[in-house]
Amino acid sequence: MRVAVVGCGYVGLATGATLAYLGHSVTCLDTDEVKVAGFKGGRLPLYQPGLAEFLTLVGHRLRFVSDYREAIPEAEVIVIAVGTPALPGGAADLRQFRGAVGAVRQHLGLEARAIVVKSTVPIGATREVALSGGGSPSVVFCPEFLREGSAISDSLYPDRIVVGTEDERGLETVKDLYRPILEQTFEPPAFLPRPDGLKSVPLLAVSWASAELSKYAANAFLATKISFINEMATLAEKTGADVTDVARAMGLDRRIGDRFLEAGLGWGGSCFGKDTAELLATARANDVSLPIVQAAREVNYSQRSRVVGLLRAELGPLGGRAVALLGLAFKPGTDDLRDAPAMDVAAELLAEGVRVRAHDPVAIARARTERPDLDIEYCDSPEEAARGADAVVLATEWPEYLGLDWSRVKAAWPGVGPIVVDGRNALDREAVEGAGLRYRAFGRVSAARAAVVPEAGVPSAIDEAAVAAADKPPLRRAPRRPKGGR
Ligand code: NAD
Repeated sequence: MRVAVVGCGYVGLATGATLAYLGHSVTCLDTDEVKVAGFKGGRLPLYQPGLAEFLTLVGHRLRFVSDYREAIPEAEVIVIAVGTPALPGGAADLRQFRGAVGAVRQHLGLEARAIVVKSTVPIGATREVALSGGGSPSVVFCPEFLREGSAISDSLYPDRIVVGTEDERGLETVKDLYRPILEQTFEPPAFLPRPDGLKSVPLLAVSWASAELSKYAANAFLATKISFINEMATLAEKTGADVTDVARAMGLDRRIGDRFLEAGLGWGGSCFGKDTAELLATARANDVSLPIVQAAREVNYSQRSRVVGLLRAELGPLGGRAVALLGLAFKPGTDDLRDAPAMDVAAELLAEGVRVRAHDPVAIARARTERPDLDIEYCDSPEEAARGADAVVLATEWPEYLGLDWSRVKAAWPGVGPIVVDGRNALDREAVEGAGLRYRAFGRVSAARAAVVPEAGVPSAIDEAAVAAADKPPLRRAPRRPKGGR
């Protein structure tokens, strides 16, 4: 099929490349001419592992333009993947989206079968697109669930494809577009083998509103899961529990699962923050309150200040200190700094008069351009960042940080008792402590404190009473049956 993808950001580029890989003829359109010139010249304006390699496989089936007239009139399917950032009050800013829809409408050709909305849009926005055109072509909302860092793999091997549609023709068009993915009939790229056992991908056809809400609900749920474990981490710290053990114990329960249970600096990125904010805005507009989503946000954003509090507790007044930040991107595998916890931590430390020395394997160039307001000293290596710092904070769990030789990092520190704050609960604590460094993390009792807190299996007198009580359930308690779907 002839496909036009409007908006070449993280989503549009991955979508365009994937559709071209499947055999469609794809024109990617972006109004940012510098970006398009970069693509044409083989320069990727964003970092996405495997993307450059993947693009070499699709060759002439993918081209880039900045003029609607070169992309839309011939297209059978138009995919919209422009940004929908948050307005100051939290509601989605639909200016890019409405601009794109208007321009698409202006240039539509006779062969257009469907407009497929992939931008995350609030409930009602897809209907608005349909109403703007009098029924032709079909308008479909296909929420995008890919993750930055694994965008190509998520596009080729998604958990599901959700189609919000209110007519049969729209549904059939999406099925035609994605058939090789739905049936998993394409030849996998050598560097991205098909996951074992994946034979097909489920397609869920629902109404526009259900599809729109499902995207926001999925993100809000994942955000809540992370905030939940962070809430437990705060309690763990006070009570001598280790949140990583708690998360493991919870995660082995198949109803819960072990993902998104990593306590630490919390979530960031282009989606969770803005999508939870938009969900709350939609709820407000409908006279509904969403206390769980509200709390998930509050817990999340307080984590960023908690790391600064932790440093203050360890170092005393922070003015004049130096802190090394390892990682700036909101997560490993991307250079995206939108709502990145590290940037807020840096800003808070700088405001307290701290020198911030930062390293990131890919995001430094973007940080320099996007945050000229932050007077961060950028460093070429983690060891260099640590040189002369009073503490190191792991903010992004890039694989290269997890395998750091901590004795080399220690060598960079002339002072006594340097601290490593593991903001992601991802470091090898023994390796850090073995190098003579002090390890601190959210929800994990420090080694010193662990010595005075009773070990599991050696309960205190109070614990014994509680254990004894718990051991005596009512005699005729009905057996509990596992409940599916919870
Ligand atoms: P992005 O900001 O990286 O890219 C958007 C692109 O659209 C930019 O290159 C911009 O120049 C271009 N653009 C803006 N207005 C345009 C117009 N009128 N015509 C043509 N191009 C235009 O955004 P993104 O991260 O790719 O996200 C796109 C959408 O997908 C958002 O709604 C987002 O919520 C959603 N989403 C993002 C992710 C993710 O991981 N980034 C995942 C799932 C869904």
